[in-house]
Amino acid sequence: MTVLSQLTALGLFDARVPRYTSYPTAPHFSGRVNADDLCAWIGAVPEGARISLYVHIPFCRRLCWFCACRTQGTATGAPLAGYLDSLEAELALLGEILPAGVTLSRLHLGGGTPTLLDPDQIRRLTGAIYAVVPRAPGSEVSVEIDPNEIGAPRLDALAEAGLTRASVGVQDFDPEIQETIGRLQSYEATLTAVDGLRARGVASLNADILYGLPHQTPARIADSVQKLLSLSPDRVALFGYAHVPWMARRQSVIPTDALPTPQQRFELFRTARQLFLWDGYGEIGIDHFARPGDGLDIARRKGTLRRNFQGYTDDDAQVLIGLGASAISRFPQGYAQNAPATSDYQALVRDGGFATARGHAFSDEDRLRGAAIEALMCDFAADATRLARRTGLPESRFAALLAELPRAFPGLLDHEAGRVRIPPDVRPLTRVIARALDAYAVSPTGHSLAV
Ligand code: SF4
Repeated sequence: MTVLSQLTALGLFDARVPRYTSYPTAPHFSGRVNADDLCAWIGAVPEGARISLYVHIPFCRRLCWFCACRTQGTATGAPLAGYLDSLEAELALLGEILPAGVTLSRLHLGGGTPTLLDPDQIRRLTGAIYAVVPRAPGSEVSVEIDPNEIGAPRLDALAEAGLTRASVGVQDFDPEIQETIGRLQSYEATLTAVDGLRARGVASLNADILYGLPHQTPARIADSVQKLLSLSPDRVALFGYAHVPWMARRQSVIPTDALPTPQQRFELFRTARQLFLWDGYGEIGIDHFARPGDGLDIARRKGTLRRNFQGYTDDDAQVLIGLGASAISRFPQGYAQNAPATSDYQALVRDGGFATARGHAFSDEDRLRGAAIEALMCDFAADATRLARRTGLPESRFAALLAELPRAFPGLLDHEAGRVRIPPDVRPLTRVIARALDAYAVSPTGHSLAV
């Protein structure tokens, strides 16, 4: 039996599994965590600590059919103005209870389309953020850029706010694919945005590209990757398109007969991956690539790569606070998520409190399994001694947990007492292997395909 047929038998082409950007995954959050927990967890941040902030802007000019993000279309700037009021109110609450001397390690503006904010709104928002959490030396400021919604004044405002890293969504440059997924974005517009960022000293560029899109072929994805490489991004995320119209209704516009089969998706991923490797990028976890010397590449080599809601990060801050509708905060004590609907979020903040709707307080068992899953997703390996050192939990518990893996995947993993490693040809199965350590039920329809 070949390794590929073994992986196939274990669900490579039909398993639907989480991407493990958190553990437990968000569907297991509950209303047992509320705003009181959030306040207690914020109050427990050590004085002088470095924290990170994520700010969610849930608006877009138009809604792309492929996108499963929680966002709403707006033709005018009016909803953004009201939303900014809510963010400022939430920041003011944060400022009241955040312990003294806390500084900002990373700020990420995501969405939605944060570049829908006009230049004054960008200045107003970042000014309010830095007034509450001043930037630490060496801090990073990043934003998701829609090349269709950016211009010199917005770029200037972002540069003034200290932008260090920009994420540009590409998906695919092929016109037929763009038409089918409802997102038109020319190479020229993307290049103009990238040039504008670099001209303003934004040294680091991330790009997202998707495989598994309708009408995508190996030749088409190769062409898009070549165009992307001509922009010389420092990091690339190669995400699989998740077709889940029962969860994201606008995806039902996309014809299912134009979608590649799971086997074809695997081929598309391998084609793109090979091109990034040939171009000198290093492989980061299951779906990222980074230039040598990029922060993710350094973190991978040092064994300090972490998993977060954006995918992979080299951020070592222990606390990430999410602001805005649906934003998720992570503390050593657990996760807290704001109300997902923008109107609910704004109403709760208008009432004078935080907008926490649900979350999850970690048990020791969660910490144990979460740390082991994160190690597999980041390093393709887990070591009981290192995990015990990182978490303070007993090494023997990690060793017992990791011993389950070779039994679940006989003959596929390298292992010795207290250590497991996923060999390179088995890595396409990493999410399925991680699922074996997940103590929570995994919905057969609630996640994307393993490839
Ligand atoms: S892809 Fe971007 S612009 Fe399109 S709907 Fe999703 S968040 Fe909005």
